[in-house]
Amino acid sequence: MGLIVQKYGGTSVATLARIKNVADRVIKEYKKGNEIIVVVSAMGDTTDQLIKLIKGISSNPNPREVDMLLTTGEQVSIALLSMAIHDKGFPAISLTGSQVKIQTDDRHNQAEIMKIDNSRLRTELDEGKIVVVAGFQGVNSQDDFTTLGRGGSDTTTVALAAAMKADRCEIYSDVEGIYTTDPRIVPEAHKLEYISYDEMLEMANLGAEVLHPRAVELAKYYNLKLYIASSFNYKPGTIVRGVEEMEKRKNVTGVTRDEDEVKITMQGVPDQPGVAGRLFTALAEHDVNVDMIIQNLEYNNMNDITFTINKENLVRGKKVIHEIASKLGVKKIDIDKNVAKVSIVGAGMISTPGTAAKMFQVLGEEEINIQMITTSDIKVSCLIEKKYAEQAVKAIHQVFELGNAEDVEEKAR
Ligand code: ASP
Ligand code: MG
Repeated sequence: MGLIVQKYGGTSVATLARIKNVADRVIKEYKKGNEIIVVVSAMGDTTDQLIKLIKGISSNPNPREVDMLLTTGEQVSIALLSMAIHDKGFPAISLTGSQVKIQTDDRHNQAEIMKIDNSRLRTELDEGKIVVVAGFQGVNSQDDFTTLGRGGSDTTTVALAAAMKADRCEIYSDVEGIYTTDPRIVPEAHKLEYISYDEMLEMANLGAEVLHPRAVELAKYYNLKLYIASSFNYKPGTIVRGVEEMEKRKNVTGVTRDEDEVKITMQGVPDQPGVAGRLFTALAEHDVNVDMIIQNLEYNNMNDITFTINKENLVRGKKVIHEIASKLGVKKIDIDKNVAKVSIVGAGMISTPGTAAKMFQVLGEEEINIQMITTSDIKVSCLIEKKYAEQAVKAIHQVFELGNAEDVEEKAR
C-alpha cells in the first residue's frame, strides 16, 4: 500500500477503448488499497491537431491564447478517464493544472513548474478518490493557463510524485521500456531492467524519444525512481534510478543514433585569441545549441572550425554564422545535412579503458569514415555519413554484445 503516481501518454488514451483500459489498470492498483494520482496526456495526436488550428488562424499567435487552446486537449482526456472510472463503480475526480495549483513561471508555451500546492490533492485522496490530473499544464501568477512544452506531461508526473512524496512513479506509454538500442533497427536489442538517470538523459537527448529529458532531470534531482512500461500489457518495464545502486556495470549500456544534426565547417578562420569565443557566443546569444566541435590548424595562421547544431536551429544558425563569418573574414562556409551521430552510452565507461577505441575500430571495419568525435564521462559520439547510421548502430551493438540477454541482465543486476 502506498501513494502511486501513474502517467498515461497520448497513445495510451487515444481511443475510448484505451481510456477504458487505463481505467481498469488504475482501478486494479486502487483495489489493492493504494492511493492513486493519474496524469494523462491529450488523446492521440490532439495537441498536433490543435497546433494545426492555430497555424490556420494566425502566423503570430498570442502565447497566452495558444496555452488557452492547448490545455483543452488534456482537459478532454482527464474528464473522460474520470467518467470511465465512475462507470466501473469507483470514485474519481479530474483536476486541471490550475485546480491542482501547479504554479509555473510566466513563460507561456514553455513554462517551468515553480511550486505545487498539494492540499487539494491531499483532500481528494483522503476522501478515497482516484485523482486524475491534466498533464502538460499549470497556472501562472496571473491565474492564466500555461503549458510546459511538448511532451510536458512527463514533467508534470515527476513533479507531482516529488511534491506528494509518492512511493511509486510509473510512466506508461506504447513502449515497453528502455532498450539497448532502437529495436526497430536491431531486433536483438534488449530491454534494460535498470538504467541510471544520466544514461537515460543521454539516451533521451540522443534520440531515444521515450521520456522527456526534463522529467529525467527532475527525477534525478529528487532521487525519484521512475518505472517505464507499456500500458498495453503487464510485461516488466525499465527502472530509471541512481547509478550508486548498481553494483555491477558493464561499460556500455546502449547505442543511439541522432539524425537531427547538421555539420557546419568554417574554413580559413583567423588563428587569433578570442575568435572561437566570438563565434560560439554569437550562436549562444541566438539560442543555437552547439553540440560537437573540432578545430584544426591549417595554414598561414588560419584554422578550420567544424561544429554541429540541431537542424531545427539551422535557419537562425545560418544567419548568425554568416554575420560573424563576414566580421571575422572567414574564407568559406560549408553546411552538410547528410550526417548522423551514433553514440555509445554507459555509466561504467569512464573506468573501462579501450571502450572508445573498440567503437572506432568497428566503424573502421565497416569502412565507415568518422568525421567528428566527442566524448564525455558516459558517452562517446561519432559523426558519420547519414546513410551508414543504421549499419553503424547494428555493428556497434553487436561488438559490445548488447544483444545478449544474459549479459544485459547481469549488467543490470
Ligand atoms: N499533449 C502534450 C504533447 O503532445 C503533452 C504530452 O503529451 O506530454 O506534447
Ligand atoms: Mg503527446
